[in-house]
Amino acid sequence: MSYDYAPIVPYLLTWFDYNARILPWRDNPKPYYVWVSEIMLQQTRVEAVKGYFDRFVTALPDIEALAGASEEQLLKLWEGLGYYSRVRNLKKAAEIIVRDYSGVLPADYEKLKKIPGIGEYTAGAIASIAYQLPVPAVDGNVLRVAKRIACSFDDVTNTSVKRKLSQDLARIMPKERPGDFNQALMELGALVCIPNGRPDCMKCPVMHLCRAFHEDKVLMLPVKPDKKARRKENRSILLIEYGDRYLIHKRPQKGLLAGLWEFPGLEGKLNTDEIIVRLKDLGYHDFTIEALGEARHIFTHIEWHMTGYRVRLSDSVPIHAGEEPYLWADREALLENYCIPNAFAAYLKYV
Ligand code: SF4
Repeated sequence: MSYDYAPIVPYLLTWFDYNARILPWRDNPKPYYVWVSEIMLQQTRVEAVKGYFDRFVTALPDIEALAGASEEQLLKLWEGLGYYSRVRNLKKAAEIIVRDYSGVLPADYEKLKKIPGIGEYTAGAIASIAYQLPVPAVDGNVLRVAKRIACSFDDVTNTSVKRKLSQDLARIMPKERPGDFNQALMELGALVCIPNGRPDCMKCPVMHLCRAFHEDKVLMLPVKPDKKARRKENRSILLIEYGDRYLIHKRPQKGLLAGLWEFPGLEGKLNTDEIIVRLKDLGYHDFTIEALGEARHIFTHIEWHMTGYRVRLSDSVPIHAGEEPYLWADREALLENYCIPNAFAAYLKYV
């Protein structure tokens, strides 16, 4: 059943005027700031993004600076945010924007969508928030809120459902405040019509227009197919020390955590005796070993179940010395210069 969203517009905008959170990229919605914040906010909570955003735009204040940044600097600025292809795409996109658009994001939805890493949602957010163009920006928050208001049991992971909602919202976008309208829907989804747990309908500015509320079906929506179970992988993580340096390894350029640095790992959950055998096979003979305990890290499709060991080498010449993709780094260099992803946080604290 179709739903006319037009009546929600004035209620949403008034609510947004009084309830919008103060966010660093909202104070000054320059196109570059909107872009960087939207990319950071993919898969990451607002509270976590704030600090990263400030650090990033202080180090790289404009698109030209971003285009000229080294990969190591970018990864370091992104360290802990995860999904590192996002920052690599930011740089690629910045190079294109410098080359083709004189370093300024185009005020054109179709052109924005052609830039690497900018999909329909991000293009809509930049076009509407930074340039006040009447284009919707439909993400998971907006889909949830809209499907609840309409009491629609469409599968929100279906592209055609998203496209139809974009068309419905495009028709009712307030021409004078398109950016605020999109942000109001997102904000309602983040603060009131929340994804996990019961939404706070009593505080909702559109409760009187919400079909799911009136039909008592709020918690049944939105409809999504069951997620596939994640694959579990067991790994043994080695914090190998030689003097005041640690051995780190650069992961392959493709696949999970591509091109990032890690503590060397072995497949399987190995016990101390098995680790000793494997280290000897690798050519290490004189070392002490200490268990550092277990840890788990969850990626989108994989879970790592890790067990960690500290290995102190006394061999006079460590193998893997300076050979790519291995590198010896002292504590300061490890923490300041190399991006060790969050998956290793449980062991990084022993450095
Ligand atoms: Fe969401 Fe409740 Fe508001 Fe409906 S009334 S939009 S379910 S918060």
